[in-house]
Amino acid sequence: MSIALDADEEALAQAAAELCRRRAPLSSIRDRLEELACGDRGAGWSNLHQHGLLTLHLAEEIGGGGATLVDLAVVAEQLGRQLLAGPWLPTVLASGALATVTDDSARTWLDLFVEGAAGAVVLGGLTAVELEDGLRVSGGTDVVPGLIGADIVLARAELGDGRVWFVLRPGEVDLRQVAGIDLTLSAGRFELDAHPVPPERIMAVDDEAADLVGAALVAAQAAGVAAWAVETAAEHLRTRHQFGKPLGAFQVLQHRAAMMLVRAEAAAAAAWDAARAPQQRRDQWRLATAQALVTAAEPAVDVVFDLVTLLGALGVTWEHDAHLYLRRASALAGLFGPSRHWARVLGEAVRHGERSSRLDDPAALPELRAEVGAVLDEFVTLPAEDDRHLDAWGRWTGGDRQALLADARLMAPHLPAPYGRGAGPQEQAVIADEFGRRGLVQPTLIVGDWALATLVAHGSDEQRTRFVDASQRGDIIWCQLFSEPEAGSDLASLRTRATRVDGGWRLSGQKIWNSRACESQWGICLARTDAEAAKHRGLTYFLVDMASPGVLARPIQQMNGQAELAEVFLDDVFVPDDCVVGEPGEGWRLAMATLSSERLNMGSRLRYGSSGLARRLLDDGAHRADEGDVLAVVGECAAREICLASMNLRTVLGRMSGRDMAAENSVNKVLSSIAQRDGSRALFGLLGPSGLDAASPYVADHLGMPAILFGGGTIEVQLNVIASRILNLPKA
Ligand SMILES: Cc1cc2nc3c(=O)[nH]c(=O)nc-3n(C[C@H](O)[C@H](O)[C@H](O)COP(=O)(O)OP(=O)(O)OC[C@H]3O[C@@H](n4cnc5c(N)ncnc54)[C@H](O)[C@@H]3O)c2cc1C
Repeated sequence: MSIALDADEEALAQAAAELCRRRAPLSSIRDRLEELACGDRGAGWSNLHQHGLLTLHLAEEIGGGGATLVDLAVVAEQLGRQLLAGPWLPTVLASGALATVTDDSARTWLDLFVEGAAGAVVLGGLTAVELEDGLRVSGGTDVVPGLIGADIVLARAELGDGRVWFVLRPGEVDLRQVAGIDLTLSAGRFELDAHPVPPERIMAVDDEAADLVGAALVAAQAAGVAAWAVETAAEHLRTRHQFGKPLGAFQVLQHRAAMMLVRAEAAAAAAWDAARAPQQRRDQWRLATAQALVTAAEPAVDVVFDLVTLLGALGVTWEHDAHLYLRRASALAGLFGPSRHWARVLGEAVRHGERSSRLDDPAALPELRAEVGAVLDEFVTLPAEDDRHLDAWGRWTGGDRQALLADARLMAPHLPAPYGRGAGPQEQAVIADEFGRRGLVQPTLIVGDWALATLVAHGSDEQRTRFVDASQRGDIIWCQLFSEPEAGSDLASLRTRATRVDGGWRLSGQKIWNSRACESQWGICLARTDAEAAKHRGLTYFLVDMASPGVLARPIQQMNGQAELAEVFLDDVFVPDDCVVGEPGEGWRLAMATLSSERLNMGSRLRYGSSGLARRLLDDGAHRADEGDVLAVVGECAAREICLASMNLRTVLGRMSGRDMAAENSVNKVLSSIAQRDGSRALFGLLGPSGLDAASPYVADHLGMPAILFGGGTIEVQLNVIASRILNLPKA
């Protein structure tokens, strides 16, 4: 998926991509590399100008497009994907920085940009002193992309404790061309020695905003480069044959390509989050931008490196375009500095506040908001759950609070009325927002959510009356009896048998890894009712009363000492006909529907390796690492959470604009599992000797985390799904 979410953004993305393909195709770059290095603007420059893509972000009253930063990021991504040559990025960085000037002093220069001028931005290497008649600037600049051939050079210099921005014209200083890493545009540097800058050239640029805008565009271009690498890798894996079959049929390569896609999707979501943030408070913008630099810029380089290895020797040649993209990705990653630095910046920032992933539309659905708000205001006045209503893991099992939410149909608002509110994406987002405003976590029945979704869609009226309300109030706890000793990832190979008898079925077999089975009243169970049918077709979906004679649930102790899981033995267990859901033989279809319920996941509080736990480690000092290293880990954990939350939010918005977001589920699942694994591992790595103490919350996180890697399908199985359904790779 690209950064574009709604129809307008998609149209803009397509127009930008089409312009590149028709007016400045990649094939045209290779003949012009020398000219590009000398400041040629590339084949598409006049078209970019003509179509307003150089000034999309500038105010309409001065001739710009009046577009949002998201629109500009949509274009940046496409120009990265098509590897448009020339100084588009330096130009919009320069004009974007000048557009933050609130007085009229920048107007002359902005007018030149509207006329099609090219720009470059000097971000580092200069220092200034202030005199009565302006500035004196000295120093040597970093390598500046697009410097050679620029009409306007916007430079930044250190001035005392702050910074000052000013404009130079190219003829005024001695520009030196250098060989830039990115071959698709010029690069240069210059030195100044007490160079005078008159007052009218000094620009009151919002220094921080200029960086934040620039970083979002860099992240967006990096996401585009990563997307190209994924497409190119998939195409190569489909067409290149070795050992008598396409490379894409080798699972190790499928997984590598699928991981590339996951990282590219994360980069796009991260860049989108940074681009949408200017409408929010400045602290939110800072958080979003720092995470984008952590998640998009350097990771895009890794994605292109992965492509290079998938291409084999072809990947290291001058002939293949991979090196042009690798160069662009590397140049982008270098522009704003190392991602470790931004992780530390983010780590420091999340000490003082969290990134909000709420839907930014407080005016949406005011009546629903008021109604839900009133219920939740009452909710917080009720006494918090006492011990009778908490299970061994601190989760709700009834009580007044749960009853209130159940009566208000807020336990599962996505279910159709009268079981839920029939809440679509926007309604669910508003409800989630009302919970979030009060610092409340939305309730989940876990397996109960899946069971009820199936009953509401496929069960009988009698089943719905019997189970839905009682489950939502917490009077019935559900477990899922699917996995078996010989049927894990390959669930359809399960062997538990159901034999037809008078009035129902008799079930025999063994289930395993069943969460909460020892405390559940009911279980959803898949069993084989037709041994002759194809393996996915002979299964039936049963509701099993866990108190039935012949059911034995035995706890399984996990590596962290807890016993959340159980193995369940079914010995000739009678299940009446009224506890069959749907028709016999439909079990697989219903189970798949169960697991992909329409409930939206808002926000992203990770259970393991969370930024909250990382902050706690920083604050309580129970580590043996340098504070900077701990801060970086805090920032990395936060970046993963923010990125996941923005992926979830994008799923909501995508569904609201009618897109099919089913494929995103596997990507989100992989990213979430990896986020928890990497976060928890990184936290443990900071502990030193205090990691020997089993009572430490960080050790509990470390030992509890592995279990998260299996629920809802393993990472590998999700990567298989991505490889076949999204990347269209051949069967392994
Ligand atoms: C905490 C926890 C809670 C669970 N809760 C429930 C529950 O409530 N109800 C329930 O029915 N089950 C539950 N499960 C079981 C879970 O669904 C299975 O563990 C999961 O489906 C994997 O099956 P398996 O453990 O048999 O591993 P296997 O399928 O044997 O897999 C072993 C390894 O091989 C990999 N692998 C398997 N097949 C492939 C393939 N085709 N390609 C590439 N790699 C592959 C897997 O990714 C894994 O790394 C739970 C598991 C855990 C850990």
